[in-house]
Amino acid sequence: MIVSCVGIGIGAGAHIAIGEAHLLSRGPVCVTPSRIPPKQVEQEIARFRQALVEASRQLLEIRQQIPPETPNDISDFIDTHLLMLEDNTISSGVISLIRERLAGAEWALQQHRDAMVEVFDQIQDAYLRTRRDDLDHVVTRIHKVLLEQQEPQLDNLRGQIVLAEDLSPADVITLHNQQIMGFVTEFGGPMSHSAILARSLGIPAVVGARGASSCLRHGELLILDTDNGCVLANCPPAVVSHFEDQREFAQQRTVLLKRQSQQPALTADGRRIELLANIELAEDVVAAMENGADGIGLYRTEFLYMNRSDIPDEEEHFLTYRAVVEGMQGRPVVFRTLDLGADKPPAGTSFVSGGGNPALGLRAIRLCLKEPELFRPQLRAILRASALGDVRLMLPMLTNLWEVEQARSMIRLCMQELECAGIAFNPTMPVGGMIEVPAAALAAPAFAKALDFLSIGTNDLIQYLLAIDRVDDEVNYLYDPFHPAVLQVIRHVIDAANAAGVPLSMCGEMAGDMRFVPLLLGMGLYSLSMQPAALLDVKHQIRDCDTGELRERTREFFDDIYNADPLALLSHWHH
Ligand code: PEP
Ligand code: MG
Repeated sequence: MIVSCVGIGIGAGAHIAIGEAHLLSRGPVCVTPSRIPPKQVEQEIARFRQALVEASRQLLEIRQQIPPETPNDISDFIDTHLLMLEDNTISSGVISLIRERLAGAEWALQQHRDAMVEVFDQIQDAYLRTRRDDLDHVVTRIHKVLLEQQEPQLDNLRGQIVLAEDLSPADVITLHNQQIMGFVTEFGGPMSHSAILARSLGIPAVVGARGASSCLRHGELLILDTDNGCVLANCPPAVVSHFEDQREFAQQRTVLLKRQSQQPALTADGRRIELLANIELAEDVVAAMENGADGIGLYRTEFLYMNRSDIPDEEEHFLTYRAVVEGMQGRPVVFRTLDLGADKPPAGTSFVSGGGNPALGLRAIRLCLKEPELFRPQLRAILRASALGDVRLMLPMLTNLWEVEQARSMIRLCMQELECAGIAFNPTMPVGGMIEVPAAALAAPAFAKALDFLSIGTNDLIQYLLAIDRVDDEVNYLYDPFHPAVLQVIRHVIDAANAAGVPLSMCGEMAGDMRFVPLLLGMGLYSLSMQPAALLDVKHQIRDCDTGELRERTREFFDDIYNADPLALLSHWHH
């Protein structure tokens, strides 16, 4: 029996998990309408307040169990839930319902939760949907306290694969401390907090596996293949031993590749390829350095805005950036300016646009140019960091040349301010741009003239070229980097940058995908930026590549692009 499901690939070499299934049956919280007599109102409110205190106590206990070396964003999840318990968003609505409608505390909480969810549901936004998950986790915890339901015991789970309808971030931390082998959830997508945590902690996980817990049995042996998003059960011994071998092989391979991580990426014909890392958080610098990145090719600075309700100020930006620049020890760091909006709206603000099409709305450079007070502190912080190392600034989602001009004039203004205040910065800091909107890709020769460097963002370029929302599961099957239009547009950008002599990199997922690396080298692209975990494999692959031969084969491929089967043609280079 194979349970097919939506999967997420977890980095850190932990691609396969084998272990016994542990069905985490939590039982739904069942709340029925209840009324209280008027004289019981204050007592009921006190009972509700007491439940909030107990729920906070439980979360604080979990927070204390987080190992000190764990990245900050993990404790941030718990802090978000604690904040929700402390502020009035939940409590004031519930207390009004108890007072005005004489609702029992559980029923008042349920009604208030439903009203808040209705508001969340009207916002078509993947990130805010994860905020809705936070609300549900918090409400369930309070309900359980009110109903005096015991949490299932999350112990003695070492080496097991946990199956659950859904897991809160707090659960994932507890399970990680229990040294589970992996987990499977019925709900949630790769954007859910549990998935983000799993990635961060290196736990193999498959999320969104609808129906998994009803067709899998407690105690049976499971195999998680996270690369393919599969949960396998009921496997004959030969299949189990195949996956055991694969797991062993992957572990040994990582150890071997790590030994060469600090060697340069040289092709068989001696061409040096620049391999850079994509990072989201300052802590990711450690993995980038360990895996031998030549620098940071994409720092997604907007992640500093996630899981919080306030906006970081210039000083916080600067301190975070300084940590990244110092951590990279003189290697270049490309700061991508805020790509907020669409699936990454800044929490606690009203900068949301696009209606049903947020990806086409006020996002990235569009938002920053419209809201200079959002942009300015970041620009000043990047400039201040430029005095400390090889700092470069990259503008996302460029569509028009005047956006470059406007951004440059804001940068000049910030430079003047810093100069007047006697604050150090690099006056020649390179300013580059992302080519991720089809219009910019087609106009690449003009952007190459206006900017100091370019980087192709294939994630968005493909979304916009093929007219599919990259976070919509319903159209995921159309997301096709092999589409002839995608490959031709990429080649056009590479040719334009090379003709203009402007440095070009690629920081979309394609750059770290081994199926495409030879083709990209064959097109004349010699700088690639990818998630740190992909660096080892790509560097190894590059050593086998001969750029002269690849150029020739790539030319043949493009000559027959509408008939050629790209996989068949490229299979020669597969490893
Ligand atoms: C891209 O669009 O390819 C890219 C690298 O940026 P992001 O994934 O952050 O949108
Ligand atoms: Mg992008």
